[in-house]
Amino acid sequence: QNIDGLEGQCTDLPREKVVAVHGSMDQASCEMCGEKGDFDEFCKEVEEKIKDISKSDDSAPEISTPILCKMCGCATVKPSIVLFRSNLPREFYDRAREDLPTADLLIVVGTSLTVSPANTLVYRAPSTTLRLVVNNEPVGTRLGIQYGPESSRDFFAQGFCDNVFLELMDHLGWLKDIAHDKLPEASASLLRERLARASAEKNNVLRS
Ligand SMILES: [Zn+2]
Repeated sequence: QNIDGLEGQCTDLPREKVVAVHGSMDQASCEMCGEKGDFDEFCKEVEEKIKDISKSDDSAPEISTPILCKMCGCATVKPSIVLFRSNLPREFYDRAREDLPTADLLIVVGTSLTVSPANTLVYRAPSTTLRLVVNNEPVGTRLGIQYGPESSRDFFAQGFCDNVFLELMDHLGWLKDIAHDKLPEASASLLRERLARASAEKNNVLRS
């Protein structure tokens, strides 16, 4: 649901494995004809053609001129994000229909689960799909997620995403597999701390 494109910057996950439900700030496309433009070229055109209202870029033009679509010629090229009340990408519906029925595990991370249709995935998953909610507070009870001992398929990991996933990676023995040179500094620093702690604990065990 995030539009920052961060996952593309810090993982080697192939683009086709990610469905950007609300679009992504790291791509540009034409609202009129759907043509996907070259993103670097789009950024260059923004620098050259759009005035800087923050007045921090001296080289920005005094007045803006439209960025035109190479395909249809309309001035409707913008970052590929889904604006409020606009349609979600077709791919979201296709993937939900084809992938959800075979999902063993649905991980819900850092969301209020109040925005439809993204939040419908929670109850459209088969009743055999385990659901893990990683969040600071419980969400989605109105969508059927159950918290507490009575729940047989829902699990709640309370806390910040970075901390919870480090914990999970640690349990799975995957800590060293995370490419920390690509992580944002805040996450990389948490990972370094965790690795140092794990190595200290190992040394203590060896000594005793
Ligand atoms: Zn166009």
